[in-house]
Amino acid sequence: MTEIMVVAEHREGEIREISLEMLTKAKEIADEINAKVSSVILGHGIDHLVEELASYGQDRVYYLRNEKLENYTIDGYKSALTSFLEDRKPVLTMIGHTAMGLDFAPALAVSLDTPLVTDCIDLKFTNGQLQVTRQVYGGKINVELNVQKHGSYIATIRPTVFKPPEKTGLKGEIEEVTLKIEGEFRTKFKGFIKPEIEDIDISQADVIVSVGRGIGEKENIKIAEELAKVIGGVLAASRPVVDNGWLPKTRQVGQSGKTVKPKLYLALGISGATQHLMGMKDSELIVAVNKDPNAPIFDIADIGIVADLFEVVPVFIEQLRK
Ligand SMILES: Cc1cc2nc3c(=O)[nH]c(=O)nc-3n(C[C@H](O)[C@H](O)[C@H](O)COP(=O)(O)OP(=O)(O)OC[C@H]3O[C@@H](n4cnc5c(N)ncnc54)[C@H](O)[C@@H]3O)c2cc1C
Repeated sequence: MTEIMVVAEHREGEIREISLEMLTKAKEIADEINAKVSSVILGHGIDHLVEELASYGQDRVYYLRNEKLENYTIDGYKSALTSFLEDRKPVLTMIGHTAMGLDFAPALAVSLDTPLVTDCIDLKFTNGQLQVTRQVYGGKINVELNVQKHGSYIATIRPTVFKPPEKTGLKGEIEEVTLKIEGEFRTKFKGFIKPEIEDIDISQADVIVSVGRGIGEKENIKIAEELAKVIGGVLAASRPVVDNGWLPKTRQVGQSGKTVKPKLYLALGISGATQHLMGMKDSELIVAVNKDPNAPIFDIADIGIVADLFEVVPVFIEQLRK
């Protein structure tokens, strides 16, 4: 039977959200083309993660267990997935458009001689041909592409586009696959460098207070920090704020930063450049404060406040405290 394969990503003992988000889309496509959905997870000593993955309601989880796969390396993933996918021949292999996925997906595609489409925000099959939606011109335009007809495709999927499925409680079948991985790897895992200790992952936040160049100087960030504290949100920023060293790079939203999709995105003194919008436009509710009525951020804001942020934010804080 036709199979859609999701390559699950895990890090530091946890399944990454993108692995689950891809499952949602895989199930949707599978219903349309009458395929089954499987995940493949690579590693060693991760039985608990394999079981957790299996509880998200797919047909099967393949566990490629090998000591050489204990930590991610491009050589390990390419080698193991090449022989596994050559054997399974799924019609579609979905990989996260993450630092890791972007690292090994092209090498895997070359190794399997399979078409690769990257950074997809939607996918479907029409008469056996894969059609994907991607963004161009810095996210201003969505294009639908017909990928040249092939028996099998690889696609990398943008994080946060799809919602992770609910746990079904039903365990999918787990199949352990023993692989021979021969030869020395050119790349070696030396260690995992964590983000700065006090830092958080803004892509997982429900409420974000984001500051732009309009905040003026580092010292002023504390007013936004206070607001974030009062509404139970986290602080993020546009690129100039990060380039100026006022907040760490891990807080940057946008094309060269993180993609976020919170319930509330409060933009303070952010003009709304395309590269910034790319990272936050799918937020559920966007509230923007900017003193320029023509600022492009107002084109996508659900609520726009034309005002000086230094006048508005203290009022927000005061009202919320009440
Ligand atoms: C390849 C590339 C990648 C990029 N990646 C990113 C990215 O990931 N993220 C990102 O953000 N940018 C990115 N940029 C930069 C982007 O093009 C913009 O320059 C940037 O987003 C502008 O940030 P800003 O809105 O904070 O600043 P500005 O564009 O300078 O806007 C500041 C805004 O603050 C308003 N303002 C000023 N004072 C006040 C006040 N007191 N109260 C209220 N409003 C006030 C002004 O009216 C103005 O609209 C990238 C650019 C390139 C070329």
